[in-house]
Amino acid sequence: MRRSLLAVAIAGLMTLSWVAGGEAQVRKSTADLALINGTVYTMDDSRPKAQAVAVIGNRIAVVGVNEDVEPFIGPDTRVIDLEGQTLVPGLKESHGHLMGIGVAKMTVNLVGISGYDELIERVLAAAEGKEEGEWITGRGWHEEKWTDRSSLTVRGFMTHHKLSEAVPDIPVYVRRADGHAAFANARAMELMGIDGTTQSPDGGDIIKDADGNPTGILVDKAMGLVRVPGFTENQRRQALELGIQECLANGITMFDDAGVGVDGIDLYKEYAEQGKLDMRVYVMASNLHTMRALKKPWSHPDGFLTVRAVKMYGDGALGSRGAWLLEPYADDPGNSGFYTTPPDSIYEAARYGLEHGWQVCTHAIGDRGNRMMLDMYEKAMKEFPHVKDHRFRDEHTQILDEADIPRFARLGVIASMQGIHATSDLPWAPDRLGHARTVEGGYVWQKLLKEGVKIINGTDAPVEHVSPIASFYASVTRELPDGTPEGGMFGDQRMSRQEALRSYTLDAAYGSFHEDVLGSIEQGKLADFTALSKDIMTVPENEILDTEILYTIVDGKVRYERGRAAMP
Ligand SMILES: [Zn+2]
Repeated sequence: MRRSLLAVAIAGLMTLSWVAGGEAQVRKSTADLALINGTVYTMDDSRPKAQAVAVIGNRIAVVGVNEDVEPFIGPDTRVIDLEGQTLVPGLKESHGHLMGIGVAKMTVNLVGISGYDELIERVLAAAEGKEEGEWITGRGWHEEKWTDRSSLTVRGFMTHHKLSEAVPDIPVYVRRADGHAAFANARAMELMGIDGTTQSPDGGDIIKDADGNPTGILVDKAMGLVRVPGFTENQRRQALELGIQECLANGITMFDDAGVGVDGIDLYKEYAEQGKLDMRVYVMASNLHTMRALKKPWSHPDGFLTVRAVKMYGDGALGSRGAWLLEPYADDPGNSGFYTTPPDSIYEAARYGLEHGWQVCTHAIGDRGNRMMLDMYEKAMKEFPHVKDHRFRDEHTQILDEADIPRFARLGVIASMQGIHATSDLPWAPDRLGHARTVEGGYVWQKLLKEGVKIINGTDAPVEHVSPIASFYASVTRELPDGTPEGGMFGDQRMSRQEALRSYTLDAAYGSFHEDVLGSIEQGKLADFTALSKDIMTVPENEILDTEILYTIVDGKVRYERGRAAMP
């Protein structure tokens, strides 16, 4: 990293005092990392803004102006000159699915390719590092949109031969953009026993050439002839590593993983023990059973992995009309949605959580789903009145009845909401709910904040891209990326930029019991930061989305740097 002249001069002085003062003493006062010339938003009320930060080991040693930090710069200090750019506390994704992010990266994306050759190119790229027994899967090809259509020789589709020649040993199975057809290579068909003698099933079609041989195109029910096996160990590791890389590249320093089974937790533990978990992970066990099997909350001493929560499901989703509502759907009057696990199981999880120190995080979308969750929490809390700091959470909190809003504050329930979901859903939510119900209870951030409820933010990645910038933008504008509708969807519920940053930092840390050590840039806290190319607190709204991640720093180490591959 480039150093300012002043820093170099001071480093020289420190070298002298090193000799004079004895190594042990200097080591304590020499920074391992110094970030200078920044626009630093600390989230610390006693010093909201700063210019520079010094880190010793994995802790923040100094927060102040350049002059405060410079005496701590030694010859071995890594100095990052932020050149006026923005530094915020490490951003935390409060609800995502880490392995899912990696898995999405491991499947081949064929959207927008120009023709068959490009399909082969992308599949070949994915073939790198595949082991025995692994498949290449993907989606998104759409031959009608191809500019090079010379390969479409049998009933308007390509045939597998060229692909099978390029990738002879690894089974390939890639779905068409609409999901109604798939394309397989020879190896995949061989493994599934599909040949010239295989009959097309009812409701499906195995497309065959003039000689009666399958071309690799399977339409509708014929797709059922292919069963892609589950992931191998190697692929699971790859998914985890890709997921972490993707998060770090997006400025995420800590990730609340919303539902991990025993196998996944074992894998995370293994990574934590080997020091390979470059991002902090907070785990919600996948269900009541998993929580009970684990018995006690657990955390790794290095602070990179904590298993202390359980994910429960209250209801379904709004799009598919599974969110549980107090009144029927506006566009489906006979239907009010449903609960997805018996309400009693949420009560049981809450009791177990209160008794054994687990945090309960319940997916609740519809107003009835949310009320039921609060009812179950409250019932259990009455039995454990001495447990004050449970921090039970409501995952999504999308549609609320007015009467339930104060209950969040009274019961101390955290609203774990995804800013980006609001702008994805609000354009069509009134179809499902009618206008009045959408306005009254849909993503009511200001109503919750006014009651004193803590809101924590995220993306539910891979449902949405894991970008905190995109979710921050949605939180403060409630507009789509093109700036519509002007003033935002039910824009009076927008968060201020300070509130949105808090939902990604200090309050996010509170959401996993980490606010004492994370979430703000304060002396003594752990050194997690995200450096941004734009000042998201002051730039015009339409520039927020252009913000790039410059550095992602976790535990005092740079784990991502723009324009560079991930650090080892
Ligand atoms: Zn989720």
